[in-house]
Amino acid sequence: MKNKIHKYDFLIVGAGLIGSLAALALHKSKFKVLVIDKEKIIPTDERTLAVNANSKDFLSDLGIWDNLKFKPQPINKIIIKDYINNSPLIFENVSEAMGNVIFNFEMLKMVRDKLEGIKILKTNIDINLNGLLPNKTIIIDRKNYLFKKVLISIGKNNNLNLSHKSIKFDQGHNSFVGFFNHDKNHRNYAYEIFNRDGPLAVLPAPSNDKKKSTFIYSTKNKISPIQIKSIIKKEFNQSHGRIYFEKSIHKFPIRPHLRKNNKDFIYIGDSLKSIHPVAGQGWNLGIKDIQKLIKLSKTYSLDDSNFNKIYYSNRIFESTLYFSFTSLLNFLYENKNPINSYIIKAGYYGLRNFRIVRDLFIKQAMGRTNLI
Ligand SMILES: Cc1cc2nc3c(=O)[nH]c(=O)nc-3n(C[C@H](O)[C@H](O)[C@H](O)COP(=O)(O)OP(=O)(O)OC[C@H]3O[C@@H](n4cnc5c(N)ncnc54)[C@H](O)[C@@H]3O)c2cc1C
Repeated sequence: MKNKIHKYDFLIVGAGLIGSLAALALHKSKFKVLVIDKEKIIPTDERTLAVNANSKDFLSDLGIWDNLKFKPQPINKIIIKDYINNSPLIFENVSEAMGNVIFNFEMLKMVRDKLEGIKILKTNIDINLNGLLPNKTIIIDRKNYLFKKVLISIGKNNNLNLSHKSIKFDQGHNSFVGFFNHDKNHRNYAYEIFNRDGPLAVLPAPSNDKKKSTFIYSTKNKISPIQIKSIIKKEFNQSHGRIYFEKSIHKFPIRPHLRKNNKDFIYIGDSLKSIHPVAGQGWNLGIKDIQKLIKLSKTYSLDDSNFNKIYYSNRIFESTLYFSFTSLLNFLYENKNPINSYIIKAGYYGLRNFRIVRDLFIKQAMGRTNLI
């Protein structure tokens, strides 16, 4: 029937690392979902994700975690060093790993395959987002659809009509991401080193022999691959032994933003907020967006006029916290003066000496706290 209207609960625009998982999770919760992406081919993404404990449970429930071929690398200890304090901050959690490192591409491919299998994914669809509204007939692939809720999950690099306003905090950073092999076992330690020119994170990468690591170096300065390699060698020759870099280093512009409430759309993942990767939490926060959305969808009618408001009032707080914390951290380290150094030292002191503060920090990083 040509004029038939296909009625759905959710349209998800963008089947990236968050949109595709939102589709799978909503489908599993028995909602009728369609997810579309403008690209047919999944872009090769050579990055890794530090998956926190909460997100790991989420992936396990969806049947993803246990089927990953490349062995996720647990993070058992996090060592934080900087150029202001004399000794490092060390975080450990005995009951479970604080996080696990996996390959972005492998996970996304697995989720996309599942979506194809249950026939709820359409790719190569480039619809006009500015003409899109919930409860209004939309034509996709020459068929008429009506959706109760429209989720926007198109990542951060989008050129939406910015009547959907967002706050931006651009520090001009680029992140440089690559891999290196090393002689010594990484012992499942993760490192964050705050240099004056920007933070350097080194994480254990998926491998069987524990002799492969990944790095993310972020800076606003112009820097060559040779300079990046020499910074890493200087910092890690002792802990990791001889270092052999893999060929490519990829560059990612970092442009943090935070979107405000929207009465028509539900923004999730990087479309809602994009934060500096210094805390390795952007995607983990996206998982919390999905979890909150599912909880609300089971509690309230999707037709409830307050639904979007309730979602945003829940998600904006934590998003703002991470957006501000990561931006402030970089600002303090990049602008050395007595006041900034004092604030950093006070933060170190609190984390080092007050167990309650340290435990809260660890639980938050693991996604094991619910702020509201
Ligand atoms: C260097 C770096 C390291 C990181 N490391 C970590 C980490 O360790 N841990 C962590 O939690 N987070 C990390 N992050 C953050 C994480 O990568 C992002 O939060 C996550 O990728 C966001 O997923 P997303 O689905 O919102 O966006 P994306 O993955 O960008 O997906 C967007 C999708 O939307 C599609 N799309 C775009 N426009 C349209 C349109 N008009 N119509 C239809 N489809 C469209 C695109 O094709 C794409 O498939 C890191 C980020 C960077 C830059």
